[in-house]
Amino acid sequence: MRTYFVRTFGCQMNKHDSERIAGMLEAQLGLATAVTPEQADVVVFNTCAVREGAEERLRGHVSSLKATKRENPDVLIAVGGCIGQRDSETLLSYLPHVDVVFGTHNIEHLPALLEAAATSRRPQIETLERGEAFASDLPSRREHPWHAWLPITVGCDNFCTYCIVPHVRGRERSRSFKNIVAEAERLVADNVVEITLLGQNVNSYGRDRYGEPRFADVLQAVAATGIRRLRFVTSHPKDLSDNTIAVMSVEPAVCRSLHLPVQSGSTRLLTAMNRRYTKEQYLALVDRLYDAMPDLSLSTDVIVGFPGETAADFAETMEVVEHCRYDQAFTFLYSPREGTPAARLTDTVPADVAQERFDRLVSAIQSSAHRKNQALIGSVQEVLIEGGSRRNSSIITGRTAGNKVVHTAAPDGVSAATLAGRFATVRIEDAQTWFLTGAIQGYERS
Ligand code: SAM
Ligand code: SF4
Repeated sequence: MRTYFVRTFGCQMNKHDSERIAGMLEAQLGLATAVTPEQADVVVFNTCAVREGAEERLRGHVSSLKATKRENPDVLIAVGGCIGQRDSETLLSYLPHVDVVFGTHNIEHLPALLEAAATSRRPQIETLERGEAFASDLPSRREHPWHAWLPITVGCDNFCTYCIVPHVRGRERSRSFKNIVAEAERLVADNVVEITLLGQNVNSYGRDRYGEPRFADVLQAVAATGIRRLRFVTSHPKDLSDNTIAVMSVEPAVCRSLHLPVQSGSTRLLTAMNRRYTKEQYLALVDRLYDAMPDLSLSTDVIVGFPGETAADFAETMEVVEHCRYDQAFTFLYSPREGTPAARLTDTVPADVAQERFDRLVSAIQSSAHRKNQALIGSVQEVLIEGGSRRNSSIITGRTAGNKVVHTAAPDGVSAATLAGRFATVRIEDAQTWFLTGAIQGYERS
């Protein structure tokens, strides 16, 4: 049987697109999964252009398949997603052994492009400016049967000055409310117990649909489908409404876990980044969130070394980190992206200075995460089991509603893998920076 391998770089939107790609390759081309790219007949790279590192990794991965392709010229290599969208035919100038280049708006054309490349033995390149935004009838092969990504918006209108996303994903478009709820109902009927609503800025849902409900209504309506756990990413601080906070604090299905990227603690830099909130507004929002939900689990994104960042600007970022008691943070060294306004700024921060700040930030986040985890010792948490631990199959791994990894011993005579997708209650006994350990008190039998 012919096989495929999909490698995904970047954000949750790309992970979701990859599930759709896998579903189409199976349903439309009859392919089965391969364990490694070297063993596959079709290799798809779903790419990310947000930072330079992801591009370098892509080049390394594709180049390492040169020998495989030489041995078997029938192997097809496709590159899609944000780098495909951005580079289109120029991608072949630096990766000449690629057979198909596709973009962010036409993943549903991939099977046809692969077939055309195989029959014509010529590279196929197709990137569209705009496409069918929510091809919800595409087959999907979910990475975990119990979890589904559910896109509610695509694209982005915020144009943060450092960011390539609006340039490769296009303007923001909201999916119809009816369509979102119908998909959530289908997922619940298909035994999905956790849904993550997706959008570059879910909080601005509905702005382009006059008279349609807004994000808080979406959250409420999807929670009402009977889904056990509901998450959402990403929230732009300028658009997170009090209605959304209210729904989060009363709806049991909505996890009290929020990703709220701050990017910087300096209002001067936030203005240069076009984030459209001040440090004070961000801190006041975080205070309102903790007032409404004292047990909130909060995560963020921070960029270090944005052009013009001074020691005083960075000290403000550290103050914000201290104030916000984050549970987790994704920390990035600023990476200039061609075509974005920030890439033209010349007052760059020397690499060693940025790295030293980055290291200090990472240790502040680690201390914060450790403190938040320590506070959970003695509590009983509902854990959604993901399976056995990679190192020891008698250890169960799962996540709390606050998105924290929990390890616990499997009950006697029960294999961890058979419990995947079920809920357990776990008494937390110890806490490290990035995970909790505890004793299982009970679990769902089916
Ligand atoms: N839409 C989401 C948001 O606004 O938070 C996520 C977008 S982006 C894919 C994820 C994160 O990458 C951003 O929050 C930002 O911290 C980081 N990022 C984006 N462009 C970057 C750049 N040029 N250099 C470094 N980090 C960047
Ligand atoms: Fe990029 Fe800003 Fe849009 Fe997020 S909100 S995708 S950081 S432009």
